[in-house]
Amino acid sequence: MTYILKNGRVVDPANGRDGIFDIEVRDGVIVRVGQDLPVPAGTTVLEVPAGCVVTPGLIDMHVHLREPGQEHKETVASGVTAAVAGGFTAVACMPNTSPINDSAAVTRYIRDKADAAGLARVYPIGAASVGSKGEQLAEIGELKTAGCVAVSDDGHPIRTALLMRRVLEYAGMLDVLVIDHCEDPTLKGDGVVHEGPVASELGLHGIPGEAEELWIERDITLAGLTRTPFHVAHLSTAGSLRAVRAGKARGIQVTCEVAPHHFVLTDEALRSYDTNTKMNPPLRPQADVDALVDGLADGSVDVIATDHAPHHADEKALSYDQAPFGITGLETAVSLTFDRLVHTGRIGLSRMVELLSVNPARILKVTGGALSEGAPADISVLAPDLKVTVRASTQRSLSRNMPFEGWDLRGGVAATIVGGRVVYRNTAVEGLGAWPPAAVQ
Ligand SMILES: [Zn+2]
Repeated sequence: MTYILKNGRVVDPANGRDGIFDIEVRDGVIVRVGQDLPVPAGTTVLEVPAGCVVTPGLIDMHVHLREPGQEHKETVASGVTAAVAGGFTAVACMPNTSPINDSAAVTRYIRDKADAAGLARVYPIGAASVGSKGEQLAEIGELKTAGCVAVSDDGHPIRTALLMRRVLEYAGMLDVLVIDHCEDPTLKGDGVVHEGPVASELGLHGIPGEAEELWIERDITLAGLTRTPFHVAHLSTAGSLRAVRAGKARGIQVTCEVAPHHFVLTDEALRSYDTNTKMNPPLRPQADVDALVDGLADGSVDVIATDHAPHHADEKALSYDQAPFGITGLETAVSLTFDRLVHTGRIGLSRMVELLSVNPARILKVTGGALSEGAPADISVLAPDLKVTVRASTQRSLSRNMPFEGWDLRGGVAATIVGGRVVYRNTAVEGLGAWPPAAVQ
């Protein structure tokens, strides 16, 4: 099918574009970008609704799809449905499934499920160590051949400095990104929330921010030693960001991501005792949140990633100490980013696109991040002024564990296009009536 996305405000920082442009798509590929493109006979025109913004497809480089093994929380199919409804054309999924994704067989299983679903692209992240046990290096070459774009033991930190060094050396040689969940397990102990006055008042065991900061310092030092790129998952404290900035200033190839919940919520939210405020890393005090927002604005934070972590309602219904860590995030990330960062004037649209598309594509070395002629047509159409009331009951994820129930936010998703196919169309956005029906709407 050939069509022209007409009269959208295109925000494509990688190509230096921010203005009204048309995009011609043929057989799943962007063939032309320009102003007032002629419409050849047989070409469909998809008028972009007024006020909507056309961006390169958003990429969430940190999600948990739970399949194989925990299909009661999420499947690859339900996860990619949530992804496209959240405006994401691609996700990278962490290896802490059951079995752990430490082999080509598991990687291929996930890719087959993603192909069958046919919605967002799925990039598996392989385990850094066998079984993510932190003892023996995983077969990183085999994982790469099977389709993994990165390695991590996420859920757990890469256990020892020696193992981290070896992972960096081998992954670096194979041009595979290393991502670490940075947290000193001995300092974390049995902590469940941020260590501070709120935790003490509530009688909950704390995790000091230093548990994250120490580990990040270790990893940045080793990334320097091995001269290998290293990515910090879900960075959450001011001290961690200082360490990343210092590493970058020393020329070390370190990048980092921040999750939306860490820039919109503080540990004050714990007072609800709602287990949907329990995540790892934990919600931090206002000073940390302020530092993260500064980092998102000034470019020292590279990526917004959701750490989408679905859990069944029965699991989250346990006591605060017993409930699992994590919340869902794929279907709220765009609205939270618009409402709390863009509409507050902290970042502009092009920075938003860098954080959600350009940088994740560059760091993972995957397709996307730009609306270039010849590139696959992975495109997000965002609705910056759409009024959204967050309701777990209308979300596509199989799980409903998120702390934003009932929040009124300004900004959302109009449509999601993957490989030229409109896979999501938001019926709440006016002006999409003439668009083709989508698999998710
Ligand atoms: Zn993690």
